[in-house]
Amino acid sequence: MKAVCWHGKRNVQVDTVPEPQILNPRDAIVRVTLTGICGSDLHLYNGYVPTMKEGDVLGHEFVGEIVEVGSAVKSFSPGDRVIVPFSISCGDCWYCQQGMWALCDNSNPNSMVLEKVYGDTGAGIFGYSHLYGGYAGGQAEFVRVPFADTGLEKIPPQLGDEQVIFLTDVFPTGYQAAENCNIHEGDNVAVWGCGPVGLMAMKSARHMGAGKVVAIDRFPERLEMARTECGAEPLNYEEIDIPEALHNLTGGRGPDSCIDAVGMEAHGTGLEAAYDRVKQSLHLENDRPIALRQLIKACRKGGTISIPGVYSGFIDKMPMGAVFAKGLTIRTGQTHVHKYLRPLLQLVEKGDIDTTFIITHRMALDDAPMGYKIFDDKQDGCVKIVMKPQAASQMTH
Ligand SMILES: [Zn+2]
Ligand SMILES: [Zn+2]
Repeated sequence: MKAVCWHGKRNVQVDTVPEPQILNPRDAIVRVTLTGICGSDLHLYNGYVPTMKEGDVLGHEFVGEIVEVGSAVKSFSPGDRVIVPFSISCGDCWYCQQGMWALCDNSNPNSMVLEKVYGDTGAGIFGYSHLYGGYAGGQAEFVRVPFADTGLEKIPPQLGDEQVIFLTDVFPTGYQAAENCNIHEGDNVAVWGCGPVGLMAMKSARHMGAGKVVAIDRFPERLEMARTECGAEPLNYEEIDIPEALHNLTGGRGPDSCIDAVGMEAHGTGLEAAYDRVKQSLHLENDRPIALRQLIKACRKGGTISIPGVYSGFIDKMPMGAVFAKGLTIRTGQTHVHKYLRPLLQLVEKGDIDTTFIITHRMALDDAPMGYKIFDDKQDGCVKIVMKPQAASQMTH
């Protein structure tokens, strides 16, 4: 089958690889009908995530049709169209039982590595390095999905793939980021980053009753999307001083909540940004926390900092004094997609929230190398790429 494979920094190729097989009775094999390139795939693309190996199959956003199930799978059968959460959860461990699906204790066979660095590990993730289990990803014609009964959700027949694909990752991720802000009616929420997660967080914040939603980015077309699609007030950080502008927009107090939907590859201006860039490139610092520092500075006293953006390691010059002095709450973590999947699917079904507006590019899986490049370079107004694999009509299974 065809699959998008990692071949080193800024090098992905569409390779022919063996089709996945059922390895465990709880597995299902899914024929991918639509897959996306996620902003966090760019961290792999740019070589910021260790333990990637040549030939690893990428992709953790995908929907498709079941073609085969293991003998222990009870709720699904071949022919079912399904949504596949990006993280893999067993459903049986203490964390899964508590609803902390992304912290599953059983789905990452390589947990030893993260335990050494972080003290503990999270769930396995499709197509996201050997740190997260070394699972083959969904930018492919077929994928093996472990714990099928636990993770999968059937797609209602009236909904197309594009309407549901973002339930696999960016919609629940943006939603959880907004929920972590504990938004009260009329709250002011500022969101750094108008990529898919940022935009989903803005939509979700609105849905939860936020008053003013402010969007911060440097790309005019993304800011425009935030304004027209999410009702946000756009601020371009290359043109104005963000903490000052946010204070002016909120009666001098600062936003009640600030969401960092940028993460470890933040861009910025000035000396501080240059400092982080140099340190990261010398591997003296894993992440560039320029946006995060600004969030902490801008947030009102007693406010909440919510971080859906991915950080992988250590960051320098964290203004912990400001966090303490201002009494800020910091909430973060990988998304518990399983928890949000059904309720958010209902919002999509009812037409309350439509997430398709973020799609700017549709291409074939074969065009993935070009797709990664234009997405990474933010060329051509690219916000979100979805790809259709031209799946083989016959499987060897
Ligand atoms: Zn993602
Ligand atoms: Zn579990």
